[in-house]
Amino acid sequence: MEKLNALFDLEVAKRVSTETKLIREEYNIRLKKAKEVYQEDILEQKYNNKDVIKKIHDDLGEEYQKQKELYRDELRRIKDDQRKALKQGKDELIEVRNEYMNKAQSIHKSYSDYLRMISDDYHIPYKILVRNAPMEDDNICKGMKKGNIRCNLKGKYDGYCKHHHSQMTRKHTIELVDDVTSIASLDVESKRLIDFNSVL
Ligand SMILES: [Zn+2]
Repeated sequence: MEKLNALFDLEVAKRVSTETKLIREEYNIRLKKAKEVYQEDILEQKYNNKDVIKKIHDDLGEEYQKQKELYRDELRRIKDDQRKALKQGKDELIEVRNEYMNKAQSIHKSYSDYLRMISDDYHIPYKILVRNAPMEDDNICKGMKKGNIRCNLKGKYDGYCKHHHSQMTRKHTIELVDDVTSIASLDVESKRLIDFNSVL
């Protein structure tokens, strides 16, 4: 009986060992599988995250592009408006300037005619009369043309036109000499003037 018991115990121990081995193997297989599934999940999650991040990036990029285009359009519009306003301002300024010049020239001519009349009526040399008459501040050339005719061009250069600018420097010299010399120097001046023009 004892022998039988011992045999039984041995058989049980063998069986337990085999079963344990089987269970452990199955456990290991399941564990391995579970690990693989878990890793797959993690990877999938990662890819999903990547997709989400990429989408956010794309959306942001698109939005940025849109904003940039809007900004560009707005900037272009502002620049166009400015250009138009500037051009309009310039045109208006030119128009006003021309209008002023025409008026100034007309007044200058009337004043010159008036001085000429006084000169004839009272026998005062025209040049002397012009020299002593109140100066006009109209930006018309203060010079004198050939034959004692007042110039009516724009006085762009210190109140003289380019043809009569040389008369400005001689003005003070002329004032110191008598009338005869004054007329003589005027002739010289006219000759010089012709030279000056031929140079131009
Ligand atoms: Zn002139």
